[in-house]
Formats: sequence, C-alpha cells, structure tokens
Amino acid sequence: MLNAFLFITLVTDGILFLFNLIGPLNYKLCLIDIGIGVPILYALFILREKKDYRLASHLATMILFVGYLAVLMLLKGKNFSMIWSYFFAPFSMIILGARKGLVISLLFLLFALLIAYLGIGSWLNGQWDMPSYVRFSISQIVMLYVIYAITSSNEKAYEKIKAMREREKAQLRLFEKLSITDPLTSLYNRRSLKDLFPKAFANARKEKKQIAYFLLDIDYFKPYNDTYGHHKGDLVLIQIADLLRQTSQYAFRIGGDEFAGIIVANKRSAIKSLAKRLQKQVCALQIRNEQSPVDAYITCSIGLHIIEAEEYDFNQIYQTTDKALYQAKAEGRNCTVFL
Ligand code: GH3
Ligand code: MG
Repeated sequence: MLNAFLFITLVTDGILFLFNLIGPLNYKLCLIDIGIGVPILYALFILREKKDYRLASHLATMILFVGYLAVLMLLKGKNFSMIWSYFFAPFSMIILGARKGLVISLLFLLFALLIAYLGIGSWLNGQWDMPSYVRFSISQIVMLYVIYAITSSNEKAYEKIKAMREREKAQLRLFEKLSITDPLTSLYNRRSLKDLFPKAFANARKEKKQIAYFLLDIDYFKPYNDTYGHHKGDLVLIQIADLLRQTSQYAFRIGGDEFAGIIVANKRSAIKSLAKRLQKQVCALQIRNEQSPVDAYITCSIGLHIIEAEEYDFNQIYQTTDKALYQAKAEGRNCTVFL
C-alpha cells in the first residue's frame, strides 16, 4: 500500500513539476515539487531496497506534512493549492494506522487552519474571507472524520479476519494431530505407521544404525476388563503407552490392547535389551490381574523383528513381527520373542 502511495505521489509530483516548468513558469512551485519529489523518491528507495516500512512511512508522512503546509503558505490560496491539504489525512491514516494517523492529521490540520486563518482578508485579493475559512475548516474536519471512520473500521475488520485465520490454523493443526494420534493414549495411530516407518527406516540406514519393529499385546486383558471394569482397563493402556514412549523412537497403538514401536540403536544387543526391559517394566507397574494364569500382575507379550534388509518391505516386516508375537503368546506369554 505504501509502495503504491509513494509511487502515485511521485508521479503526480513529477507531472505537476513538468506542468509548472513548461506552463507559466513558477519557480516557487517547481522548488516545492522538487522538495517533495526527491525525499519521496528516497522513501521509495528505503522501502523497496532496505524493506524498512517504518522509516519509509515516517519519512513520507513528514515530507507531505511539511510539503503541503509549504504549498498552503506560499501560494496563499491561489491555483487551487488548498486542495492538497485534503490529501494528508487519508495518506497518514492509511499508512500509519487510524489512531496514529488521526493524531498527526489533527496536528497538520491545526497548522493548516492557522495558516489559512492568518490569510483571511489578504489571500486571493481579499476574497479569502471568514465564510471561506469556515467552509474550509468544516470540510477539513468532515474529511478527517470520514477517513478515520473508514480506516478504523477497516482495521477492525482486518483484525477479526486475522483472528479467524489464526483460529482456523489452530483447528487445522488440531485436526491433523487427531488424525494421526490415538485419542486415549496420545500415541500415534495405525494410520501414521505408513508415513513414519519409511522415515525412521531411511534415517536408520543413513546413520548406519540398527532398527527394529515390535508388537506388544497385553496378556489376559479381556479378563482384566471384565474383573476391574473398562475404565481401569483404559488407565492400564495409558500407563503402558507411557512406557512405550520412553523406549521407542515412534510408538503406536495399533488397536485394542495391541501396541507397536520402532526402536533404533547402535547395536542389535541394545535393541534386544530395550525390548526385554520394556516387557519387565510392564510387569513392574504391579497392576493386579487376578484372572491371569501367568502372573499376579498385568504382563505383556512382545514380538520383535530386527530389520536386516537394506530395502524397505513393510508387509514382510509386519508379517515377521506378527509371527514373533504369536510365538510369544504360544510360548506362555509374559515373554519377548526375537525373529
Ligand atoms: P491375550 O493374552 O491372548 O492377548 O488375551 P486377551 O484377553 O488380552 O485377548 P485380546 O488381546 O484378544 O483381548 C483384547 C481385549 O482388550 C478385549 C477388550 O476387552 C480389551 N480392549 C480393547 N480395546 C480396549 C479399550 O479401548 N479399552 C479397554 N479398557 N479395553 C479394551
Ligand atoms: Mg491381549
């Protein structure tokens, strides 16, 4: 906006300069045109090259403040010169904002009215009289009010739109989060696997690290729910999710009481001990599960597959890991099987 304003001012000033030069030569006017044009050109340079909006807008406002008052003072009402002072309020309010622009425009108006007042009886061979002055003052004040009302209502509308956009962005972020996370545990859901797995796999291969995928299923969780209720069951799922988060680079709730995770470590042995530790940590939560034939507390079975292949094949990885979990269940649960 400032760019356009400065450009228009510069072009208008240039045209007026040429007009004053070619037409009935008026040195005073030519000097004022130069006095306005050169600094405006400089403000345009600051804006475009240095990208300093603040400095450019303040400089331009100052130039027009002094320039329009100089026109008023030197031309003493001749050649429709008073019309230029009407441009100051719209310029300053649009460029500096409604409030700041209003303050500066009021100051400008004070000077303009004072200069015009002093000209009563002498400007325009005495034709500039009190009624002309009153008309000038009223029209200036009306102009100021109209421009302020328009600018401030525009600003309010803009603020509302901005706030609405922020809300929309926040909602979008929330939807994105909800679409990839499990609402109960806040772990990633099954859908995120297809996006995150290739990423983790590629990173591990790049950093020459070992990567493993595991499935974890709570043992005898149905009887637990039946005995202690679904709400207690939910709390168990949340606690186990927290353990998974600590162990895995990415942790997922696949569905029901089944979780999955991606472990990355420097050595195979480190991966294995992390998985074993996770299994023990679940037991160490010491959540009583009296219906479980394997332990007095909630336990879990883990099937883990350390990926050797250089090429990524998720179906194969999933099948092998699933087989490992199946085997862990078959071997009596509360254990970890590596394949
Ligand atoms: P297994 O050792 O063979 O895994 O036995 P299990 O009883 O755990 O059997 P399974 O894994 O098939 O049972 C899953 C149970 O998980 C069934 C259901 O009661 C429970 N479950 C599934 N989703 C939820 C949930 O969101 N909240 C709660 N509280 N329980 C759930
Ligand atoms: Mg289970």
